Amino acid sequence: MSDAPTHDADEFEPVDVFETTEMDLRPGADDCYKCSTCDTSCPVAEVDDEFPGPKFQGPEQWRLKRKEDHEIDDSITSCSNCMRCDDACPSSVPLSQMHNTARGEYVENQRFGREALSALVDGSPREALEIVREGQDGLVERLRNRILANYHTSAWLASYAPSVANFVMNFGPARWAMAKTMGVTSEREFPAFADHTFREWWTARGGAQVSNPDKRIAYFHGCYSNFNTPEVGKAMVRVYEEFGYEILVPPQKCSGTPMFANGMLGDARRHAETNVKNLAAAIENGAEIVASCTSCSMALGQEYPELFDLDGIEDVAAHTYEGVEYLRLHEDLEDALDEASVEGSELAYHAPCHARNQGLDTQAVELFSDLDGVAIEDVGDSCSGISGTYGWKEEKYDYSMEIGEEMFEHMEHADGETGMTECPTCAMQMEHGTGYEIRHPLELLEEALVTGS
Ligand code: SF4
Ligand code: SF4
Repeated sequence: MSDAPTHDADEFEPVDVFETTEMDLRPGADDCYKCSTCDTSCPVAEVDDEFPGPKFQGPEQWRLKRKEDHEIDDSITSCSNCMRCDDACPSSVPLSQMHNTARGEYVENQRFGREALSALVDGSPREALEIVREGQDGLVERLRNRILANYHTSAWLASYAPSVANFVMNFGPARWAMAKTMGVTSEREFPAFADHTFREWWTARGGAQVSNPDKRIAYFHGCYSNFNTPEVGKAMVRVYEEFGYEILVPPQKCSGTPMFANGMLGDARRHAETNVKNLAAAIENGAEIVASCTSCSMALGQEYPELFDLDGIEDVAAHTYEGVEYLRLHEDLEDALDEASVEGSELAYHAPCHARNQGLDTQAVELFSDLDGVAIEDVGDSCSGISGTYGWKEEKYDYSMEIGEEMFEHMEHADGETGMTECPTCAMQMEHGTGYEIRHPLELLEEALVTGS
């Protein structure tokens, strides 16, 4: 007979080894079966030998976190948050949610000031000094990332004197100094700030020109359409008004996209609180949320509920659409374009990675292929390489251009010298790599349906 101890199932008490929370990502980590498909889809891993790839950044780190002493690996800061791995995973592992959360934790752990203070309070000045000494490493890099991530603030300041800002931001010695002291690449030209913001234009025209409680949208213009390309916002307004929509433009802040990519979840949350409060009120008022930037619609529709627990956040996510997507769903856009024509236009279209994640990567080509006067070509499914702030970092610039090479080549092989995309930073990269003028699909819709050829 065996001497092995016997267990009474009724007496068995399960032990909670890991604390479970609403945002617990371990079940997602457990769904990973290590096929490595995500790694082969990662544009950064392809060019940067030191980047271990999404499988490590996601499920493997979350498994390692079961050991209490595991610290987030600093390679998490090299993930550009393109989110292509999300799309690639056959097991629906929430990779980008894991990356965003890990990056947030990594950056939070770098806030050495509080720890130093508590060491001081505990009567350990030597330990406090040591914490400060260690924490200073990478301080400039963190400051640079904070400035890049808070584009909303610098653009808001620049909007008071856009011509001065445009001169200073591209003044050679200033750019050289920014590259040397802060690590912002001097290889790129800063995008020009417009001489008026979208919101100034909106106020000057007296707001909505159409009143229609049955067809109402709230426009989320984001930072770039407001401060740099108000013509995209104006196109959005004119096209939607042409279809009889009443447009609301609620007060809003940055969607948070550059903050997620730089691990600044505290900043992103503060912005999300304002956005969710105002957009939820617009939904109450009968509106659907429409964004002209695919990264903004991605943030509102996916990243917000993945990262924050705020009243109304699920509602905002469920009611958010991209500008062309919403019209295709609710209007007979193809029919309207059948009757229209534009000046001869040969377009090289690039689908942003975040459009791909929302299933919107083919819509521009499908929509404009039969438009009289347009020849449009998809330049392939590669990443543009800039990924928001990633390509602005001195140490990432070469990788960014290497990733973008495939897109540049396809653009150059396509007919014409005009590009098209929905993402403002992809547009920067397309222009930077080819010198082409870049248009937004809403601008072409405006030309076809509102101003005419
Ligand atoms: S693709 Fe998904 S299942 Fe495969 S290794 Fe990556 S995370 Fe795991
Ligand atoms: S988000 Fe993009 S860069 Fe980051 S791990 Fe996934 S595929 Fe790679």
